[in-house]
Amino acid sequence: MKNYESASKKVDYSLKLKSYVDNTCRKILNDSQVLLQSLSSEDSKTKNLAAIQVQNLFEFESKISSLLELHELEQNRFSNTRKFVDICDQISTVVNNLKKKNPQVKTIVEIHYPSHKPEVRLKPDLFQKWFFNCLDKLYSNKAVSRIKIEVFNKKNVTVIKISQKGLSGENDKNTKGIDWIFAKLYFELENGDLTHEQDGGLKLLFTSAGPDEEVVSKADDVTDVEILKKLKDGDDLPTLSPIAIKIVKLASDASSSAQDIANVISLDPAMTAKLLKVVNSPFYGFAKEITSVSQAVALLGMKAVRTLALCISILDTFPSESDRKFDYRSYWERSFASAVTCRITAKKLALHIEEEAFITGLTQNIGSLIFARFYPTKYTRILEKHKKNADELIAAEQNSWGIDHAKLGSELFSLWKMPAILGQTILYHHSPSKVPENNHDLKNLATLVYLSELSSRVLFDGKKSVTLQHLKTEYKSLLKIDEIEVDEIMQLVSNEIEIVAGEFNFTIKTPIDYAQILQNANIELAKINLDYEQINRALENEKKRADELTLKLRKANKLLEEEVNTDGLTKLYNHRFFFELVTKEFANAQRNNFPLSCILIDIDFFKKVNDIYGHQIGDKVLERIGKILKEAIRTGDFAARYGGEEFAIILPNTVVDKAKMVAERIRKSAENKNLIDNFENKKITLSAGVASTENNNVANAIELVGLADKAVYKAKKEGRNRVVVYSHDKLKI
Ligand code: GH3
Ligand code: MG
Ligand code: MG
Repeated sequence: MKNYESASKKVDYSLKLKSYVDNTCRKILNDSQVLLQSLSSEDSKTKNLAAIQVQNLFEFESKISSLLELHELEQNRFSNTRKFVDICDQISTVVNNLKKKNPQVKTIVEIHYPSHKPEVRLKPDLFQKWFFNCLDKLYSNKAVSRIKIEVFNKKNVTVIKISQKGLSGENDKNTKGIDWIFAKLYFELENGDLTHEQDGGLKLLFTSAGPDEEVVSKADDVTDVEILKKLKDGDDLPTLSPIAIKIVKLASDASSSAQDIANVISLDPAMTAKLLKVVNSPFYGFAKEITSVSQAVALLGMKAVRTLALCISILDTFPSESDRKFDYRSYWERSFASAVTCRITAKKLALHIEEEAFITGLTQNIGSLIFARFYPTKYTRILEKHKKNADELIAAEQNSWGIDHAKLGSELFSLWKMPAILGQTILYHHSPSKVPENNHDLKNLATLVYLSELSSRVLFDGKKSVTLQHLKTEYKSLLKIDEIEVDEIMQLVSNEIEIVAGEFNFTIKTPIDYAQILQNANIELAKINLDYEQINRALENEKKRADELTLKLRKANKLLEEEVNTDGLTKLYNHRFFFELVTKEFANAQRNNFPLSCILIDIDFFKKVNDIYGHQIGDKVLERIGKILKEAIRTGDFAARYGGEEFAIILPNTVVDKAKMVAERIRKSAENKNLIDNFENKKITLSAGVASTENNNVANAIELVGLADKAVYKAKKEGRNRVVVYSHDKLKI
């Protein structure tokens, strides 16, 4: 069973999101600084940068909104325990829906499922959404003739591969959009890994929650497993005492009586002493001391005595003190905690399987002792690495030895000819959900043992708040035992563990105080919640900051766009943008059959102005003429600085005579205005050329401007300070 640490995931996720927002903001800020610097440098790259910036901004906005959407989804769903979702069913559903939606599309969808379907924990709606999007994109791509979906298992990893045949080499860039980010983050949370394949397909990897092909086949056929061979060959086999073997034998013999068992135990004085010690413990609470095994059998029943004798025998079989290679002490402390939890819970539920619960709780991880016996160093290393996650531990054991501790434990029990239910419980102690519902005792036992492992984690591991929350959630969902009752059970466990272990001559050295654990866990939990709220608040602030930045950047971009298109001195449009505009207006005029006129203006003898008054005065004149132009034109007309002392005006939907009037008005205005400071009598005059699509057969915008230029030339030739209208038939010249 997977350990769902929802609270810590929440925090993890929020932190990720926060750092993403942070980084993006910083990047945008840097970019905009570069942009603002390049504004003043009149760099030719400015325009490109501006375009990129606009693009960045757009992407950033959509990322933020999709991330926040995901964040919200996570927030809403993490509180609920997730359900198992069969990935294969999910894929079938999506593909069927898609086929219904697009029956006319003749794309062949091949789906390959593994013979053993993987059990994968996924949130179905989000997975469906993402999966549907991927397929939808592949479907809508005309070049796709075949979509291949493969689900297969590799070791403990489930792989989903979606590839599009007939599109080799072409990457589907679209999938790297919002859906991609969405899916990537989502699968990261699920500990999955999403990658683009070279052929444009997608591959998704994640650890299976259930057994994969290899695990199932190995578990079904373990004859070739080396460690098992060693066990079966009796090679250094941990053997039960002859007494224990006899007890087991009697247990499976229907004709045996309670007295038979008592007789066997009595043959072993050490065993008898130990058994009587247990039987006389406060747990059984007999008023009078029990002095013989027969008495114990009579009072406790055959089953209980048998179980006790087996526990004693098993404990005798393995070391109880840690050596240099394996920490037996810690192993048995946890095992006793589990055993006591099992028995207390079974008693509370009145399941009448207390003895079995105790022995399976105690021996659930006996397979680990076999690994430790044969490969102590390696096993200690693996245990250390994966002790926090049972699924990972099982996968690592499978990888190293082809068998896991649950299966190995159950094999050992079957070698010992233990009652079948005990071995079965050990086999299923990490996956009680796999036990069929109608097998009540096994289901109950496996569930108790599974829970008891969590209980020992609470008592002996760190991160108590998360583990305790998980334990309580699991108790609630599997046994309908609520939080307060779990606290009571855990309190009892912490009270009893030392005594019970003591009865078996084992001393618990790690101090266990559930009240203290509970208090610390609550503090930890409060801290997590507090941190989470703080992160949420920080996140909101980041979003606000990002919004503000976005706004600033929009303004900067607008400014930039204007700067890129205008002439710094006159604030009129520049030459490049003039041509962009005139081309657009020309096309528009042609489409709508409107006349389009163009005026080109050249300052007369401007060189002299510079020569006589200097360049600064010359610039001032240029600036003032720019103003005159702006004032003279209507909305919809465009004025530009065409060259050094040349100006251009486009007049959409304007007939030639009207354009001529505008040019004349400008010419007069310049002539009459005092354009050179302190030299009132010095006049600046202009020569203007007007051309129009009206009356002329003009092919394009450049030609129209060329005709206006010709008219200017003519105006200069005719004596300057005048307006000349171009006409093919020279009617108006
Ligand atoms: P014409 O009447 O034949 O047009 O004579 P012109 O002197 O105006 O024409 P020409 O093309 O010979 O000279 C244009 C001058 O305009 C040359 C250059 O010094 C001046 N000029 C061009 N751009 C600028 C500018 O940005 N600032 C200033 N102050 N002068 C400029
Ligand atoms: Mg000139
Ligand atoms: Mg000139």
